[in-house]
Amino acid sequence: MSDIRDITVIGAGPVGLITAFWAGMREASAQIIDSLPDLGGQLTTLYPEKWIYDVPGHPRVLARDLVEMLREQSIEQFDVPVHLETTAERVEYEPDPDDPEKQILRLVTDKGDFLSRTIVISGGHGAFEPKKLPGYDMSPWEGKGAHYLVGEKSAFAGKKVVIVGGGDSACDWTLNLLDTASEITLVHRREGFRAHEITVREIEEAKDAGKVDVRVPYQVKDVSGNGHVQTITLYHSEDEGDVVEIAADAVLLQLGFKTALGPLKEWPLEVHKGAIVVDPLMKTSMDAVWAAGDITTFDGKLKLIATGFAEAAIAVSQAVHYIRPDMKIQPKYSTNTGVPGAVEGQP
Ligand SMILES: Cc1cc2nc3c(=O)[nH]c(=O)nc-3n(C[C@H](O)[C@H](O)[C@H](O)COP(=O)(O)OP(=O)(O)OC[C@H]3O[C@@H](n4cnc5c(N)ncnc54)[C@H](O)[C@@H]3O)c2cc1C
Repeated sequence: MSDIRDITVIGAGPVGLITAFWAGMREASAQIIDSLPDLGGQLTTLYPEKWIYDVPGHPRVLARDLVEMLREQSIEQFDVPVHLETTAERVEYEPDPDDPEKQILRLVTDKGDFLSRTIVISGGHGAFEPKKLPGYDMSPWEGKGAHYLVGEKSAFAGKKVVIVGGGDSACDWTLNLLDTASEITLVHRREGFRAHEITVREIEEAKDAGKVDVRVPYQVKDVSGNGHVQTITLYHSEDEGDVVEIAADAVLLQLGFKTALGPLKEWPLEVHKGAIVVDPLMKTSMDAVWAAGDITTFDGKLKLIATGFAEAAIAVSQAVHYIRPDMKIQPKYSTNTGVPGAVEGQP
Protein backbone atom coordinates (compact mmCIF):
# COMPACT_ATOMS: atom_id res chain seq x y z
CA MET A 1 0.00 0.00 0.00
CA SER A 2 3.00 2.34 0.40
CA ASP A 3 3.68 2.18 -3.38
CA ILE A 4 3.05 5.68 -4.79
CA ARG A 5 0.80 5.42 -7.86
CA ASP A 6 0.14 8.26 -10.28
CA ILE A 7 -3.64 8.11 -9.83
CA THR A 8 -5.89 6.68 -7.15
CA VAL A 9 -9.36 6.15 -8.56
CA ILE A 10 -12.17 6.27 -6.01
CA GLY A 11 -15.03 4.11 -7.30
CA ALA A 12 -15.04 1.03 -9.53
CA GLY A 13 -18.23 1.84 -11.42
CA PRO A 14 -18.08 2.06 -15.23
CA VAL A 15 -16.42 5.47 -15.04
CA GLY A 16 -13.82 4.40 -12.46
CA LEU A 17 -12.94 1.36 -14.57
CA ILE A 18 -12.49 3.45 -17.71
CA THR A 19 -10.48 6.00 -15.70
CA ALA A 20 -7.97 3.23 -15.00
CA PHE A 21 -8.01 2.41 -18.71
CA TRP A 22 -7.30 6.01 -19.75
CA ALA A 23 -4.52 6.11 -17.15
CA GLY A 24 -2.94 3.00 -18.67
CA MET A 25 -3.16 4.51 -22.15
CA ARG A 26 -1.20 7.52 -20.86
CA GLU A 27 1.33 5.17 -19.21
CA ALA A 28 0.28 6.36 -15.79
CA SER A 29 0.02 3.92 -12.91
CA ALA A 30 -3.37 3.66 -11.22
CA GLN A 31 -5.10 1.86 -8.38
CA ILE A 32 -8.83 1.59 -7.71
CA ILE A 33 -10.74 1.38 -4.46
CA ASP A 34 -14.46 0.74 -4.00
CA SER A 35 -16.62 0.21 -0.96
CA LEU A 36 -18.66 -2.52 -2.70
CA PRO A 37 -17.58 -6.17 -2.90
CA ASP A 38 -17.86 -6.19 -6.73
CA LEU A 39 -16.83 -4.07 -9.70
CA GLY A 40 -19.42 -2.16 -11.70
CA GLY A 41 -21.11 0.39 -9.41
CA GLN A 42 -24.77 0.97 -10.26
CA LEU A 43 -24.66 -1.48 -13.18
CA THR A 44 -23.79 -4.38 -10.90
CA THR A 45 -25.76 -3.23 -7.89
CA LEU A 46 -28.97 -1.97 -9.42
CA TYR A 47 -29.49 -3.45 -12.88
CA PRO A 48 -27.02 -6.21 -13.86
CA GLU A 49 -29.59 -8.01 -16.02
CA LYS A 50 -30.96 -4.96 -17.84
CA TRP A 51 -30.17 -4.07 -21.44
CA ILE A 52 -28.46 -0.75 -22.05
CA TYR A 53 -29.13 0.75 -25.48
CA ASP A 54 -27.16 4.00 -25.42
CA VAL A 55 -23.52 3.06 -24.98
CA PRO A 56 -21.92 4.03 -28.30
CA GLY A 57 -20.78 1.06 -30.33
CA HIS A 58 -23.15 -1.31 -28.54
CA PRO A 59 -26.61 -1.45 -30.14
CA ARG A 60 -27.54 -3.12 -26.86
CA VAL A 61 -25.50 -4.59 -24.05
CA LEU A 62 -26.40 -6.23 -20.74
CA ALA A 63 -25.18 -4.08 -17.85
CA ARG A 64 -23.23 -6.98 -16.40
CA ASP A 65 -21.58 -7.74 -19.75
CA LEU A 66 -20.53 -4.11 -20.11
CA VAL A 67 -18.86 -4.30 -16.69
CA GLU A 68 -17.04 -7.45 -17.75
CA MET A 69 -15.81 -5.78 -20.95
CA LEU A 70 -14.65 -2.74 -18.98
CA ARG A 71 -12.84 -5.01 -16.55
CA GLU A 72 -11.11 -6.73 -19.45
CA GLN A 73 -10.21 -3.41 -21.10
CA SER A 74 -8.86 -1.75 -17.97
CA ILE A 75 -7.83 -4.08 -15.19
CA GLU A 76 -6.84 -7.04 -17.30
CA GLN A 77 -4.72 -5.00 -19.73
CA PHE A 78 -2.91 -2.88 -17.16
CA ASP A 79 -1.35 -3.40 -13.78
CA VAL A 80 -4.13 -1.82 -11.72
CA PRO A 81 -4.46 -3.05 -8.14
CA VAL A 82 -8.14 -3.11 -7.16
CA HIS A 83 -9.12 -2.83 -3.51
CA LEU A 84 -12.76 -3.74 -2.99
CA GLU A 85 -14.73 -3.36 0.26
CA THR A 86 -12.55 -0.35 0.91
CA THR A 87 -14.10 3.05 1.63
CA ALA A 88 -12.29 6.35 1.09
CA GLU A 89 -12.49 8.37 4.27
CA ARG A 90 -10.18 11.38 4.03
CA VAL A 91 -7.20 12.74 2.21
CA GLU A 92 -4.01 14.26 3.53
CA TYR A 93 -1.27 16.06 1.61
CA GLU A 94 2.38 15.34 2.39
CA PRO A 95 5.78 15.93 0.77
CA ASP A 96 6.78 13.49 -1.96
CA PRO A 97 9.58 11.37 -0.42
CA ASP A 98 11.34 11.36 -3.83
CA ASP A 99 11.05 15.13 -4.33
CA PRO A 100 10.14 17.19 -1.24
CA GLU A 101 9.34 20.15 -3.53
CA LYS A 102 6.33 18.19 -4.69
CA GLN A 103 3.40 16.80 -2.75
CA ILE A 104 1.60 13.49 -2.75
CA LEU A 105 -1.80 12.53 -1.45
CA ARG A 106 -2.45 10.02 1.29
CA LEU A 107 -5.93 8.55 0.89
CA VAL A 108 -7.03 7.23 4.25
CA THR A 109 -9.53 4.37 3.98
CA ASP A 110 -11.10 1.91 6.39
CA LYS A 111 -8.56 -0.67 5.09
CA GLY A 112 -5.37 1.40 5.31
CA ASP A 113 -3.70 4.24 3.42
CA PHE A 114 -3.09 4.61 -0.32
CA LEU A 115 -0.47 6.99 -1.71
CA SER A 116 -0.66 8.70 -5.09
CA ARG A 117 0.25 11.88 -6.91
CA THR A 118 -3.34 12.63 -7.90
CA ILE A 119 -6.86 11.38 -7.22
CA VAL A 120 -9.78 10.98 -9.61
CA ILE A 121 -13.10 10.66 -7.80
CA SER A 122 -15.61 8.57 -9.75
CA GLY A 123 -17.83 7.83 -6.78
CA GLY A 124 -21.20 7.95 -8.58
CA HIS A 125 -23.92 8.70 -6.08
CA GLY A 126 -21.60 7.80 -3.23
CA ALA A 127 -21.23 4.60 -1.32
CA PHE A 128 -24.21 2.24 -1.68
CA GLU A 129 -26.08 0.60 1.14
CA PRO A 130 -29.23 -1.46 0.66
CA LYS A 131 -32.16 -0.26 2.75
CA LYS A 132 -33.05 -2.71 5.50
CA LEU A 133 -36.48 -4.05 6.27
CA PRO A 134 -38.21 -1.81 8.79
CA GLY A 135 -39.68 -3.73 11.72
CA TYR A 136 -37.83 -7.04 11.26
CA ASP A 137 -34.12 -7.70 11.69
CA MET A 138 -33.12 -9.80 8.68
CA SER A 139 -29.38 -9.74 9.46
CA PRO A 140 -29.26 -13.25 11.03
CA TRP A 141 -30.51 -14.61 7.68
CA GLU A 142 -28.06 -12.71 5.48
CA GLY A 143 -25.93 -15.28 3.67
CA LYS A 144 -28.51 -17.93 4.67
CA GLY A 145 -31.14 -17.20 2.07
CA ALA A 146 -31.74 -13.47 2.58
CA HIS A 147 -30.46 -11.37 -0.35
CA TYR A 148 -30.37 -7.67 -1.15
CA LEU A 149 -28.87 -8.04 -4.63
CA VAL A 150 -29.18 -10.35 -7.57
CA GLY A 151 -25.68 -10.96 -8.84
CA GLU A 152 -26.41 -14.08 -10.86
CA LYS A 153 -30.00 -15.07 -11.60
CA SER A 154 -28.83 -18.68 -11.35
CA ALA A 155 -28.52 -18.24 -7.56
CA PHE A 156 -32.36 -18.42 -7.56
CA ALA A 157 -32.72 -21.27 -10.06
CA GLY A 158 -35.44 -23.72 -9.08
CA LYS A 159 -36.00 -21.92 -5.76
CA LYS A 160 -39.09 -20.67 -3.99
CA VAL A 161 -38.39 -16.95 -3.78
CA VAL A 162 -40.20 -14.33 -1.71
CA ILE A 163 -39.57 -10.82 -3.04
CA VAL A 164 -40.27 -7.93 -0.70
CA GLY A 165 -40.83 -4.39 -1.95
CA GLY A 166 -43.23 -2.23 -3.92
CA GLY A 167 -41.07 -0.24 -6.33
CA ASP A 168 -39.57 -0.80 -9.75
CA SER A 169 -36.77 -3.09 -8.66
CA ALA A 170 -39.08 -5.45 -6.69
CA CYS A 171 -41.49 -5.65 -9.64
CA ASP A 172 -38.71 -5.90 -12.25
CA TRP A 173 -37.05 -8.77 -10.39
CA THR A 174 -40.38 -10.54 -9.97
CA LEU A 175 -40.82 -10.57 -13.74
CA ASN A 176 -37.15 -11.22 -14.40
CA LEU A 177 -37.03 -14.31 -12.17
CA LEU A 178 -40.19 -15.90 -13.60
CA ASP A 179 -38.09 -18.08 -15.89
CA THR A 180 -35.62 -18.96 -13.13
CA ALA A 181 -37.34 -19.43 -9.76
CA SER A 182 -39.75 -22.33 -9.20
CA GLU A 183 -42.22 -20.14 -7.26
CA ILE A 184 -42.38 -16.41 -6.65
CA THR A 185 -44.28 -14.54 -3.97
CA LEU A 186 -44.30 -10.75 -4.15
CA VAL A 187 -44.94 -9.05 -0.82
CA HIS A 188 -45.66 -5.36 -0.35
CA ARG A 189 -46.89 -3.61 2.75
CA ARG A 190 -49.29 -1.40 0.78
CA GLU A 191 -52.00 -2.20 -1.77
CA GLY A 192 -50.49 -0.33 -4.73
CA PHE A 193 -47.09 -0.75 -6.35
CA ARG A 194 -44.90 2.26 -7.09
CA ALA A 195 -43.52 0.76 -10.28
CA HIS A 196 -43.87 1.70 -13.94
CA GLU A 197 -47.45 1.27 -15.19
CA ILE A 198 -46.48 -1.35 -17.78
CA THR A 199 -44.55 -3.35 -15.19
CA VAL A 200 -47.50 -3.30 -12.77
CA ARG A 201 -49.76 -4.52 -15.58
CA GLU A 202 -47.34 -7.37 -16.29
CA ILE A 203 -47.33 -8.30 -12.60
CA GLU A 204 -51.14 -8.40 -12.64
CA GLU A 205 -51.07 -10.63 -15.72
CA ALA A 206 -48.52 -12.97 -14.13
CA LYS A 207 -50.69 -13.11 -11.02
CA ASP A 208 -53.83 -13.92 -13.04
CA ALA A 209 -51.89 -16.62 -14.89
CA GLY A 210 -50.96 -18.15 -11.51
CA LYS A 211 -47.25 -17.46 -12.02
CA VAL A 212 -46.85 -15.06 -9.08
CA ASP A 213 -48.46 -15.11 -5.67
CA VAL A 214 -49.02 -11.42 -4.86
CA ARG A 215 -49.45 -10.67 -1.14
CA VAL A 216 -50.58 -7.11 -0.48
CA PRO A 217 -50.83 -5.42 1.95
CA TYR A 218 -48.60 -7.79 3.92
CA GLN A 219 -45.39 -7.43 5.91
CA VAL A 220 -42.73 -9.81 7.17
CA LYS A 221 -43.44 -10.99 10.72
CA ASP A 222 -40.88 -13.75 11.06
CA VAL A 223 -38.40 -15.96 9.25
CA SER A 224 -37.64 -19.50 10.31
CA GLY A 225 -35.50 -22.35 9.06
CA ASN A 226 -32.88 -24.81 10.04
CA GLY A 227 -29.76 -22.72 9.42
CA HIS A 228 -31.27 -21.48 6.14
CA VAL A 229 -34.48 -19.66 5.21
CA GLN A 230 -37.39 -22.14 5.00
CA THR A 231 -40.53 -20.25 5.99
CA ILE A 232 -41.53 -16.60 5.82
CA THR A 233 -44.41 -15.58 8.06
CA LEU A 234 -46.40 -12.58 6.89
CA TYR A 235 -49.05 -10.49 8.60
CA HIS A 236 -51.73 -8.31 7.06
CA SER A 237 -50.80 -4.61 7.39
CA GLU A 238 -54.27 -3.71 8.68
CA ASP A 239 -54.99 -6.85 10.73
CA GLU A 240 -52.05 -8.34 12.61
CA GLY A 241 -54.15 -11.41 13.41
CA ASP A 242 -54.24 -12.31 9.73
CA VAL A 243 -51.05 -14.36 9.40
CA VAL A 244 -49.82 -16.52 6.49
CA GLU A 245 -46.84 -18.81 6.20
CA ILE A 246 -45.00 -19.08 2.90
CA ALA A 247 -42.49 -21.84 2.16
CA ALA A 248 -39.33 -20.21 0.79
CA ASP A 249 -35.72 -21.01 -0.06
CA ALA A 250 -34.78 -17.37 -0.50
CA VAL A 251 -36.04 -13.92 0.36
CA LEU A 252 -35.02 -11.02 -1.88
CA LEU A 253 -35.34 -7.63 -0.22
CA GLN A 254 -35.80 -4.90 -2.83
CA LEU A 255 -36.39 -1.86 -0.70
CA GLY A 256 -34.06 0.48 -2.53
CA PHE A 257 -30.62 1.77 -1.77
CA LYS A 258 -29.32 4.60 0.33
CA THR A 259 -26.58 6.49 -1.43
CA ALA A 260 -24.74 9.36 0.08
CA LEU A 261 -21.52 11.19 -0.48
CA GLY A 262 -20.70 9.74 2.94
CA PRO A 263 -17.14 10.45 4.03
CA LEU A 264 -16.51 12.57 0.90
CA LYS A 265 -18.94 15.12 2.35
CA GLU A 266 -16.31 16.12 4.87
CA TRP A 267 -13.70 16.85 2.19
CA PRO A 268 -13.07 20.50 1.33
CA LEU A 269 -14.80 20.04 -2.03
CA GLU A 270 -17.28 22.43 -3.56
CA VAL A 271 -20.54 20.48 -3.57
CA HIS A 272 -23.83 21.45 -5.21
CA LYS A 273 -26.98 19.36 -4.61
CA GLY A 274 -24.92 16.36 -3.51
CA ALA A 275 -22.55 16.43 -6.50
CA ILE A 276 -18.97 17.67 -6.80
CA VAL A 277 -18.58 20.88 -8.74
CA VAL A 278 -15.89 20.58 -11.44
CA ASP A 279 -14.54 23.03 -14.01
CA PRO A 280 -14.37 22.21 -17.76
CA LEU A 281 -11.11 20.33 -17.06
CA MET A 282 -12.92 18.08 -14.54
CA LYS A 283 -10.86 19.65 -11.78
CA THR A 284 -12.41 19.85 -8.33
CA SER A 285 -11.72 22.63 -5.85
CA MET A 286 -9.08 20.43 -4.15
CA ASP A 287 -5.43 20.40 -5.16
CA ALA A 288 -4.52 17.44 -7.41
CA VAL A 289 -8.06 16.03 -7.27
CA TRP A 290 -10.23 15.58 -10.38
CA ALA A 291 -13.66 13.95 -10.69
CA ALA A 292 -15.69 12.19 -13.40
CA GLY A 293 -19.02 10.43 -13.86
CA ASP A 294 -22.27 10.72 -11.95
CA ILE A 295 -20.58 12.41 -9.00
CA THR A 296 -19.76 15.59 -10.94
CA THR A 297 -21.88 18.62 -11.68
CA PHE A 298 -21.36 21.41 -14.19
CA ASP A 299 -23.40 23.36 -16.71
CA GLY A 300 -24.93 20.90 -19.16
CA LYS A 301 -24.09 17.83 -17.09
CA LEU A 302 -25.60 14.54 -18.31
CA LYS A 303 -25.62 11.57 -15.95
CA LEU A 304 -24.90 8.95 -18.57
CA ILE A 305 -22.29 6.24 -18.95
CA ALA A 306 -21.16 7.66 -22.32
CA THR A 307 -20.54 11.16 -20.98
CA GLY A 308 -18.86 9.74 -17.85
CA PHE A 309 -16.38 7.91 -20.08
CA ALA A 310 -15.47 11.18 -21.81
CA GLU A 311 -15.17 13.07 -18.52
CA ALA A 312 -12.75 10.38 -17.33
CA ALA A 313 -10.58 10.86 -20.44
CA ILE A 314 -10.39 14.60 -19.73
CA ALA A 315 -9.67 14.11 -16.01
CA VAL A 316 -6.87 11.61 -16.69
CA SER A 317 -5.25 13.78 -19.38
CA GLN A 318 -5.20 16.69 -16.95
CA ALA A 319 -3.92 14.61 -14.04
CA VAL A 320 -1.13 13.11 -16.14
CA HIS A 321 -0.15 16.55 -17.47
CA TYR A 322 -0.06 17.82 -13.85
CA ILE A 323 2.27 14.98 -12.84
CA ARG A 324 4.42 15.19 -15.98
CA PRO A 325 4.04 18.67 -17.52
CA ASP A 326 6.01 17.59 -20.60
CA MET A 327 3.22 15.11 -21.40
CA LYS A 328 0.79 16.56 -23.93
CA ILE A 329 -2.83 16.93 -22.91
CA GLN A 330 -4.05 15.66 -26.26
CA PRO A 331 -3.38 11.92 -26.38
CA LYS A 332 -2.05 10.27 -29.49
CA TYR A 333 -4.57 8.17 -31.40
CA SER A 334 -4.71 4.58 -30.24
CA THR A 335 -4.86 3.51 -33.88
CA ASN A 336 -1.23 4.71 -34.02
CA THR A 337 0.03 3.83 -30.56
CA GLY A 338 -1.78 0.61 -29.74
CA VAL A 339 -2.03 0.17 -25.98
CA PRO A 340 1.09 1.89 -24.63
CA GLY A 341 0.96 1.06 -20.94
CA ALA A 342 -0.20 -2.53 -21.38
CA VAL A 343 1.41 -5.05 -19.10
CA GLU A 344 0.09 -8.28 -17.81
CA GLY A 345 -2.66 -7.17 -15.46
CA GLN A 346 -4.89 -8.96 -13.02
CA PRO A 347 -6.71 -12.03 -14.33
C1 LIG B 1 -31.89 1.54 -13.10
C2 LIG B 1 -30.86 2.38 -13.83
C3 LIG B 1 -30.76 2.31 -15.20
C4 LIG B 1 -29.80 3.07 -15.88
N1 LIG B 1 -29.74 2.99 -17.24
C5 LIG B 1 -28.79 3.72 -17.92
C6 LIG B 1 -28.71 3.67 -19.33
O1 LIG B 1 -29.49 2.99 -20.00
N2 LIG B 1 -27.73 4.40 -19.94
C7 LIG B 1 -26.85 5.20 -19.25
O2 LIG B 1 -25.98 5.81 -19.86
N3 LIG B 1 -26.94 5.28 -17.90
C8 LIG B 1 -27.88 4.57 -17.21
N4 LIG B 1 -27.97 4.67 -15.86
C9 LIG B 1 -27.02 5.58 -15.17
C10 LIG B 1 -25.65 4.92 -15.06
O3 LIG B 1 -25.76 3.71 -14.33
C11 LIG B 1 -24.70 5.88 -14.35
O4 LIG B 1 -24.56 7.05 -15.15
C12 LIG B 1 -23.32 5.23 -14.15
O5 LIG B 1 -23.43 4.10 -13.31
C13 LIG B 1 -22.35 6.22 -13.53
O6 LIG B 1 -21.14 5.57 -13.35
P1 LIG B 1 -20.11 6.03 -12.21
O7 LIG B 1 -18.94 5.11 -12.36
O8 LIG B 1 -19.92 7.50 -12.30
O9 LIG B 1 -20.86 5.77 -10.84
P2 LIG B 1 -21.44 4.44 -10.15
O10 LIG B 1 -21.86 3.44 -11.14
O11 LIG B 1 -22.44 4.95 -9.17
O12 LIG B 1 -20.17 3.87 -9.36
C14 LIG B 1 -19.60 4.60 -8.30
C15 LIG B 1 -18.84 3.66 -7.39
O13 LIG B 1 -18.12 4.45 -6.43
C16 LIG B 1 -18.13 3.78 -5.19
N5 LIG B 1 -17.90 4.76 -4.10
C17 LIG B 1 -18.61 5.86 -3.82
N6 LIG B 1 -18.10 6.51 -2.75
C18 LIG B 1 -17.04 5.78 -2.35
C19 LIG B 1 -16.09 5.91 -1.28
N7 LIG B 1 -16.11 6.93 -0.42
N8 LIG B 1 -15.14 4.94 -1.15
C20 LIG B 1 -15.07 3.89 -2.01
N9 LIG B 1 -15.95 3.73 -3.04
C21 LIG B 1 -16.91 4.65 -3.20
C22 LIG B 1 -19.52 3.16 -5.11
O14 LIG B 1 -19.53 2.05 -4.24
C23 LIG B 1 -19.74 2.73 -6.59
O15 LIG B 1 -19.34 1.40 -6.84
C24 LIG B 1 -28.92 3.94 -15.16
C25 LIG B 1 -29.02 3.99 -13.77
C26 LIG B 1 -29.97 3.23 -13.10
C27 LIG B 1 -30.06 3.34 -11.62
